[in-house]
Amino acid sequence: MTRPNGIAPSADRAYFAAFLDLRGKPGVVVGGGPLAALKAEALLRSGARLTVVAPELCTRLSELTLVGALRHEAKRFQPGDLVGAEIVIAATDDPSVNESVSNAAKALHVPVNVADNAQLSTFIMPSVLDRPPLQIAISTAGASPVLARKLRSMIEALVPFAFGRLAALAARFRAASKRRYPNPEGRRRFWEDVIDGPVGEMVLSGREAQAADALQRMLEGGQTTGAPRGMVYLVGGGPGNPDLLTLRALHVMQRADVVLYDHLVAPAIVDLARRDAERIYVGKQRDWHALRQEEINALMVRLAQEGKRVLRLKGGDPYIFGRGGEEIETLAAHGIAFEVVPGITAASGSATHAGIPLTHRDYAQSCVFVTGHLKDGSLDLNWDVLARPRQTVVIYMGVRGLPQLCERLIAHGLPASTPAAIVEHATLPRQRVVTGTLETLPALAERENLRPPAMTIVGEVVKLRDKLGWYRPGGLDQEEPSSHSKVART
Ligand code: SAH
Repeated sequence: MTRPNGIAPSADRAYFAAFLDLRGKPGVVVGGGPLAALKAEALLRSGARLTVVAPELCTRLSELTLVGALRHEAKRFQPGDLVGAEIVIAATDDPSVNESVSNAAKALHVPVNVADNAQLSTFIMPSVLDRPPLQIAISTAGASPVLARKLRSMIEALVPFAFGRLAALAARFRAASKRRYPNPEGRRRFWEDVIDGPVGEMVLSGREAQAADALQRMLEGGQTTGAPRGMVYLVGGGPGNPDLLTLRALHVMQRADVVLYDHLVAPAIVDLARRDAERIYVGKQRDWHALRQEEINALMVRLAQEGKRVLRLKGGDPYIFGRGGEEIETLAAHGIAFEVVPGITAASGSATHAGIPLTHRDYAQSCVFVTGHLKDGSLDLNWDVLARPRQTVVIYMGVRGLPQLCERLIAHGLPASTPAAIVEHATLPRQRVVTGTLETLPALAERENLRPPAMTIVGEVVKLRDKLGWYRPGGLDQEEPSSHSKVART
């Protein structure tokens, strides 16, 4: 219900949200257990001078006392312990002690919190998400701390860590901005331009020194909007399972104006880009290219020069058999700003989801990634380096060249019985894994009609799959064990 003055306290207990400056201020925690330790640490992080009152301390609190982080009063609580304190927290396991702490604090008009007891507290502690100096505090007024924590972890994924650094940068220029824009309205517009414009973008992509220079120039030049400056994000989309994207990839995708993607990027991943972003398919399927590499490069340059935020989405990691380096060279040559976001490469995705560790102390001390792409019908690889014992060889783009690959590895000295696997559509619900040996794998792959994208893994580590395989999407596991081979729809 709205009162005449327009202010309506909610029916539930309404709290006033505030952030206290406790640096150097005396605080008291009553209690010596793990819960008291958590509260003590929260107070210490805010810079309070802390005294803990408790007959005995848990390990954590003893450690903090030993290193001089706090003062320990080894005694039972007495009301006099709170004299001079500016904040008090009670976290003992004795309700009557907690209550007398609450009463004593209230009598002294000192803010008091009693753990898990809002009735005895004059303030409650929110669930806090820290991106120093940025803090996001969440309260359910004590209704559900678990809900508050859940909300915190949701926000955690949404708010880039670099927001804290952006706030720190803003703090550095705050006084200068007040001098330059004495009028609050003008100052607000200035900061909006900073945060939503190129300066904010630079901080988020880790170019802080450049951001500070640009901010300085904006203050000196007095212009509040710069010419639109586009930028390219070369982002690794991982092996196909959207849950395996990095947080940075997701953040960048949600801000893109244009998305350039090719056939290796799963539709579910392209879908995560900002809804109204323009999507351009630039192809690159075997023997069929929608756009030539030079055309893709030129397109990125043009879009960025138009001031767009261009997302170049690649399968796996952009710097592993992704020609990411070449695309970036063109951008650099044209002076276009770019950021590269790593992704989980197909070798990692296949290995984890097929249950095949790429290295293992007993079986493989090294691991080589090679491309099995056929050039003029043949494989041009350094066979002596590949055919080594105690090494895992992982082959990208090797489905067509598989017979040749296995034959050459054997010819260069690897035993024909060396375990080998193919992982098709790794990390996706339709993943299939075929295991055999260098001798049997080509025929098995043919029989199972395996198609790209697939990874071949050669080495003793493949044997571990029997113990370490765990990924069984949709319960479609159809193992067909035979003496030397296995096919599994996992
Ligand atoms: N930059 C990518 C590799 C591009 S080359 C990365 O880091 O993963 C393309 C090859 O990657 C395919 O021919 C296939 O061998 C492999 N690949 C990509 N995604 C795959 C997947 N989900 N399952 C199996 N292999 C995959």
